[in-house]
Amino acid sequence: MKVLVPVKRVIDYNVKVRVKSDQTGVDLANVKMSMNPFDEIAVEEAVRLKEAGTAEEIVAISIGPEKAQDQLRQALAMGADRAILIKTDETVEPLGVAKLLKAVVEEESPQLVILGKQAIDDDSNQTGQMLAALLGWSQGTFASEVKIDGDKANVTREIDGGLQTIAINLPAIVTTDLRLNEPRYASLPNIMKAKKKPLDVKEVGDYGVDIAPRLTTVKVTEPPKREAGVKVADVAELVSKLKNEAGVI
Ligand code: AMP
Repeated sequence: MKVLVPVKRVIDYNVKVRVKSDQTGVDLANVKMSMNPFDEIAVEEAVRLKEAGTAEEIVAISIGPEKAQDQLRQALAMGADRAILIKTDETVEPLGVAKLLKAVVEEESPQLVILGKQAIDDDSNQTGQMLAALLGWSQGTFASEVKIDGDKANVTREIDGGLQTIAINLPAIVTTDLRLNEPRYASLPNIMKAKKKPLDVKEVGDYGVDIAPRLTTVKVTEPPKREAGVKVADVAELVSKLKNEAGVI
């Protein structure tokens, strides 16, 4: 079985994000960029499927700038076999990403595509679902466990009420939740080996799909500053404040 793993280059989760002064977006100048954390979980899951003998080949793919090769090399160091970069300096919205991924799926014919449940920069939580819809494939989103059983996948999903296990037919789309696994660190020898693994660089134009933006960003602002809290002496005072000052009870 071939597994395709889309990985996105995003602002590192430890970075304190600053809004640009003209409110058009977030300042990315000289900021540490990393692989989207949910995509690390996706790569790890694919590598575990390969180690279990279920997957034969893992292809990592990214749509982004030239520098997204760093994140693809990380995926290769974790255990992916080869990588594809579809190069663009433009922001590609989830629908555009899903259309490009569909074109790659048609070329590569994977049995499974494992994406992150969301990218931590735009927090869209859309690409996996859109890709499943475009391909007409089954989807198991927010996965905390994936078991492949012949031509089916049993996916345990994290839902509001707890856990739900569904059986879906392959080929399928899976999106990862936090508890699916703990991604490994790439060892130094594997980082060195990853430098020699194949990484194909393509252009968006090679795929002939319409990725023109459909969304307009009106303005980006900082969240309102949190006001200082107060300490109350006892429950009676708390109830009185909630009733008389906050007006919430
Ligand atoms: P989103 O729908 O933007 O929250 O992203 C969900 C998932 O789609 C991510 O975790 C990635 O697996 C994948 N994805 C989104 N954008 C890209 C991109 N530019 N390149 C590769 N994968 C992406």
